[in-house]
Amino acid sequence: MSFIKSNENISDSGKRAEGASGALCNVLHRFDAQEQGEEAYRIVRELYPICRSITGDGVRQSLCLLQGTAPLELREVSSGTQVFDWTVPKEWNIRDAYIKNEAGERVVDFQRCNLHVLNYSVPVRQKMSLKELKPHLFTLPETPDWIPYRTSYYRETWGFCLTQRQLESMGDGQYEVSIDSTLEPGHLTYGEYRIQGATDDEVLISCHACHPSLCNDNLSGIAIAARLAGLLKAVSLRHSYRFLWIPGTIGSITWLAMNEAILPRIRHGLVLSCVGDSGPFTYKRSRRGDAEVDRAVEHVLLHCEREFQALDFTPYGYDERQYCSPGINLPVGCFMRTPNGRYPQYHTSADDLSLVTPSSLGESLLQLLRVIQVLDENGRYFNLNPKCEPQLGRRGLYRQMGGTKDAAASEMAMLWVLNLSDGEHDLLDIAIRSGIPFAEVSRAADALKEAGLLGSAS
Ligand SMILES: [Zn+2]
Repeated sequence: MSFIKSNENISDSGKRAEGASGALCNVLHRFDAQEQGEEAYRIVRELYPICRSITGDGVRQSLCLLQGTAPLELREVSSGTQVFDWTVPKEWNIRDAYIKNEAGERVVDFQRCNLHVLNYSVPVRQKMSLKELKPHLFTLPETPDWIPYRTSYYRETWGFCLTQRQLESMGDGQYEVSIDSTLEPGHLTYGEYRIQGATDDEVLISCHACHPSLCNDNLSGIAIAARLAGLLKAVSLRHSYRFLWIPGTIGSITWLAMNEAILPRIRHGLVLSCVGDSGPFTYKRSRRGDAEVDRAVEHVLLHCEREFQALDFTPYGYDERQYCSPGINLPVGCFMRTPNGRYPQYHTSADDLSLVTPSSLGESLLQLLRVIQVLDENGRYFNLNPKCEPQLGRRGLYRQMGGTKDAAASEMAMLWVLNLSDGEHDLLDIAIRSGIPFAEVSRAADALKEAGLLGSAS
């Protein structure tokens, strides 16, 4: 397309990318949503059993596994590092945890499900009565077979999460409580991967990678970010693309605090979360509300032939809260299917491998690629023959495809591009105003450029 210089891409390591696919439109053309979704699902399944948190070996292990899909680098930031108003916490690791009854049976067992431990629990080993234990137990009485997901990152305490049925089966008596964890100075770990494009202008793709065995929130986002990075690394792109797999909140705060010099280069950004369930798409706009990424996502979703909703920014949710804080104010929106807190399985053990599906993951990835196409190919142009319509037939641009529906559509796209290319409207404006999908408008612009009818206005 317009900014592609060759079929080969120079990757960030300085070597020519293996098996470069050339243009993004070719990737989209060849895209098999089911196959791509199955690849993403394979990642979700592989990472599902690992006990992640905002720090610790679970995050490292997860990031190392993702390196098989995207060549991300692990970054380590020491505990105690000051990051804006926050401090990088101590590192948490856990080996085992259980509650044993008097018969020595594990009635609650971390080995069966890592959600059983209040994430970031300090170590404990003692005997106590059920009454003494109860303030440390968390259940969901309304869904008695589900284990809640709870954390206590910034207040040192311990606890267990269990099903209401487990709790009800626990009689009075003495229990042996053990959490074999450590909370010590160490590091916060995150994953980063940057693809160098033709320019240093960046698109930021960020997801939180701190939840333990939970699939939609957010193994789906982790897997889709990795697949997206894997697909884009072999493509010739105008923008550079930066991918972050970070612990929620403290991760984005840490990254922003340590990379302030880079921020002016970030032109567009998306936080990915909850992209594996079968609900309709949801897009949460950036704080600015009318950023190019906002218009791009809404345009793509309007043409995805599915229901979708666009929500205005609120200062609650995922890491867009930090990216869109007033002193940072990046054009970063949040791409989701069913949003956080809006599905019953959210933050429970029922957010499992049955909630996400390969087809939903594949469809999410496809829409994201289309958004990337808009961001990467959008531009402003001048019609170089603005006094009345140029004669398209003479240039082989009119009725060359036998009057098919496709030909009529591409002619219509060319007429729109010619009419609105006055240096004021970009291709996305033209797509939105004409109701023609961006890809069609971009193709028309390419044909017009080729014919010498369109010149860049930027
Ligand atoms: Zn969450």
